[in-house]
Amino acid sequence: MSSYRIQGATGEWEVVIGLEVHAQITSNAKLFSGASTAFGSEPNTNVSLIDAAMPGMLPVPNAECVKQAVRTGLAIDAQIHRWSRFDRKNYFYADLPQGYQISQLYHPIVGEGSLTVETDEGEKVIGVERIHIEQDAGKLMHDQHPTMSYVDLNRCGVALMEIVSKPDMRSPAEAGAYMKKLRAILRYVGSCDGNMEQGSMRADVNVSVRKPGAEFGTRTETKNVNSVRFIQQVVEYEARRQVDVIEEGGTIVQETRLFDPDKGVTRSMRSKEDAHDYRYFPDPDLLPLVLTEDFVEECKASLPELPDAKRQRYVEALGITPYNADVITSDVETARWFEALLDAGAEAKAGANWLTSELFGALNRLGKDIGQSPVSPEQAAQLLGLVADGTLSGSLAKQVFEIMLETGDDPARIVEEKGLKQTSDTGAIEAVISEILSANADKVDQYKGGKEALFGFFVGQTMKAMAGKANPQVVNELLKKALA
Ligand code: ADP
Ligand code: MG
Repeated sequence: MSSYRIQGATGEWEVVIGLEVHAQITSNAKLFSGASTAFGSEPNTNVSLIDAAMPGMLPVPNAECVKQAVRTGLAIDAQIHRWSRFDRKNYFYADLPQGYQISQLYHPIVGEGSLTVETDEGEKVIGVERIHIEQDAGKLMHDQHPTMSYVDLNRCGVALMEIVSKPDMRSPAEAGAYMKKLRAILRYVGSCDGNMEQGSMRADVNVSVRKPGAEFGTRTETKNVNSVRFIQQVVEYEARRQVDVIEEGGTIVQETRLFDPDKGVTRSMRSKEDAHDYRYFPDPDLLPLVLTEDFVEECKASLPELPDAKRQRYVEALGITPYNADVITSDVETARWFEALLDAGAEAKAGANWLTSELFGALNRLGKDIGQSPVSPEQAAQLLGLVADGTLSGSLAKQVFEIMLETGDDPARIVEEKGLKQTSDTGAIEAVISEILSANADKVDQYKGGKEALFGFFVGQTMKAMAGKANPQVVNELLKKALA
């Protein structure tokens, strides 16, 4: 149970949240036509006669899109409906030449499922009501010319999954965690690229408030929210606003709202339309969608290891800390990079530590994500190998890594060229130690008189004199002997 509460004049309030997430299905072609879905194409270049709703054109379902929706359903342990059907949602708008959107209202392809989220308050299972398949609409542009509006139909007919959660979330943190987890699962499955900036994933955020334990209140729906942070802001803003309205004697009306990210507020857009306003009816151009058992089995067999299972395996079989396992499995690209690192011979725990601290630190500084890492998993495995076999100390490895980031060179070559090899040559180290001890005779006396903290000073001086290249373990042993 979440302990998130909104403080009002009449006491504490609880927020109730349900998300309807639109996710663009990864597919080269649209849901009912062969037109391309490439992002960023010239306006109106990816439009078939079907997408433009020319008379007499008939839609043909894209099997790849159906498969991706089924795989997504299986990934959240949902019921797969072997019989589903497409309905027309009728409305007029300039970005929708058909005059209706093909969707699935009455018989969605995927039924109830769930996913587990983790917040500071622990794990929680969030229910998913359904997943259905539908078409996207085109895009209107109003701001290029003061008196003109333009329409781009490239997105018209692109396949979307609408993933509808149950009203199970109780805090902004839970809503954010749900969106992140859902995004992670879709990216693992490969059914959506999860790119929220490009609009591949966006959420309608349903929010209501109630006194803890009371009946659900009336909800508002804030449309098309396209980042995790914005979702959380919408929840916070709406919950506060609704409590204030109710406590001032007003009532919440069920309505559609829009989020203004610059001001961090939501504004009323229109009162909520009911299903009958859309005159939904089964699309007579399309047969019911019937899936064979084999098709569903194939979808199941094609699923990769999912984030929860992977995290558990990393902890239990590889001995990685739960924190590192969490960080690495939270995105499929990171997990793939890590597994390539292991395949290239790196030891799991050292590899996980290095990836989450050194590599992530560097990528952060460079403003790159892991797919753009200047260092390959193979090169990283070589670097870790040089630490494991004693060629490099930890601090030398950091220096070599910096050079790798700049030059893209292999670590062994850098070590060779720059002479960065760590030395365990006891003769050389002993010579340096004896110089340092005689130059600091006073400190040696203090050390021998009981001031043991000075040991670190001698280590530091020795390392400095050897330009960081002495094996620290050997330095420690030899110093202890010399000071005994
Ligand atoms: P509709 O049929 O009007 O679209 P749904 O029952 O499909 O309504 O719910 C739409 C979304 O709103 C779902 O994500 C659901 O979890 C959420 N929701 C429903 N009731 C509430 C409520 N009282 N407070 C917050 N969210 C809600
Ligand atoms: Mg709905």
